[in-house]
Amino acid sequence: MITSEISFADLGLAEPLLRAIADAGYTHPTPIQAQAIPQVLKGGDLLAAAQTGTGKTAGFTLPLLHLLSRNRPAQVRPGRPRCLILTPTRELTAQVEESVQTYGKYLPLKSMVMFGGVNINPQIAALKKPLDILVATPGRLLDHVGQKTLDLSGVEILVLDEADRMLDMGFIRDIRKILALLPPKRQNLLFSATFSDDIRALAKGVLNDPGEVSVARRNTASELVRQSVLLVPKEQKRDLLSHLVRSNGWKQVLVFTRTKHGANRLAEKLVKDGVPAAAIHGNKSQSARTKALAGFKDGSVEVLVATDIAARGLDIDQLPQVVNFELPNVPEDYVHRIGRTGRAGATGAAVSLVDGEEGKLLADIEKLIKRKIDREPLPAFTVSAPDRDERAERPPRSHAPRQGRPGAPRGEGRGQSGHGSGSRQPSGNARGQGAARGQGAGSNRPASQPRSGASQGAAHSAGEPRNGGARRPALFTPKTPVRG
Ligand code: AMP
Repeated sequence: MITSEISFADLGLAEPLLRAIADAGYTHPTPIQAQAIPQVLKGGDLLAAAQTGTGKTAGFTLPLLHLLSRNRPAQVRPGRPRCLILTPTRELTAQVEESVQTYGKYLPLKSMVMFGGVNINPQIAALKKPLDILVATPGRLLDHVGQKTLDLSGVEILVLDEADRMLDMGFIRDIRKILALLPPKRQNLLFSATFSDDIRALAKGVLNDPGEVSVARRNTASELVRQSVLLVPKEQKRDLLSHLVRSNGWKQVLVFTRTKHGANRLAEKLVKDGVPAAAIHGNKSQSARTKALAGFKDGSVEVLVATDIAARGLDIDQLPQVVNFELPNVPEDYVHRIGRTGRAGATGAAVSLVDGEEGKLLADIEKLIKRKIDREPLPAFTVSAPDRDERAERPPRSHAPRQGRPGAPRGEGRGQSGHGSGSRQPSGNARGQGAARGQGAGSNRPASQPRSGASQGAAHSAGEPRNGGARRPALFTPKTPVRG
């Protein structure tokens, strides 16, 4: 991943940048940096095929800082940036600007971020100061243009970062409008993970005789990330997650849920379990998102629960662990999710908690990544009584004992016998059954846990083989493939 033969100094970057790079702890450029930096320093346009995790942000930030600092006029005008970096999301915007700050810390250049969903007035105030580099999402940028608070006539360098995602998110019209506001003579850099016909058309319209660089599309899914699946009934996922976080001492876990509501609920429940957690998704205010991300970065939030969309722009250094609390509906999202770990050469791990209803989703993912993901045995963990809201959400179940069978409905998995769902009902009798099983599983229970499940409802050790083993459906038996 890291190009060992070349150093950053070989690439021709100015000394203040080399110092900042050393401070960041980077020893060698990544392949995209080694290719892109000299090309950008030459002043020509660039078409770069690189996805998140390759070091692409430094690949364009470092040379543009170099160029902008070299030709900086004595008077930089307020509200008239010399460099415009467009990105698809607020998070990415914030992260790119953070890179600008990090690498430009020994340079006098001024930068700011601009994105929607927040009060526009502080941005208007910031635009009254000299500005070299503006990192923006297209929509809010056009709002400023409309209010005449921003003047794009001085842009010397344009960067379209994650251009494919900008097109996916429907920004093409906004981009066209913005391009029309820029001076014709400028340097253009376009970064995209994929090259669809639309991207090629955009590149053709924007770039002038571009140099092309690309790093092989990294097969993140199969190569750098250790992947595993834990087969677990849906209602035990949260307890299992709390257990995994605690028992593995995970300090920085990104957990994916399918819905915003699910993300909120899970984060709240983890907090109740004593696991510092926060949710991040599109319905949160920008300040709540920023706060959650900052907490995650500084270690006060150990578990960040995110939806796919919210997680797209997240760049967190060396994220060691990703958990799929629910599998995504679209298999490609699985690859995006686990791509959050194992970045820039580091290895990471991704574990998926898969219930009986997700067999088809898992099969689709395995087809896409062309490999079977290891099924790991469930560890022993304590299943707590469901909260009232959880009980209310569950469909009514029969109390009649059922034979375990492949593809059985949730609640019949390992860790629950045919009475499993009954034990969740708030009836004394059912609780008694739960407690009895809890005692049966006592040998593996940590000392801190009560022996009887009675005090906790249906507390039991879920990974524990129990007497009624014959009833256990094959679906939740470790190392057994899930059937779609
Ligand atoms: P990016 O692809 O720009 O999102 O970068 C992915 C991660 O790689 C970021 O966390 C960077 O801090 C890190 N990174 C960038 N360049 C290097 C480098 N030369 N050596 C080590 N890490 C790097």
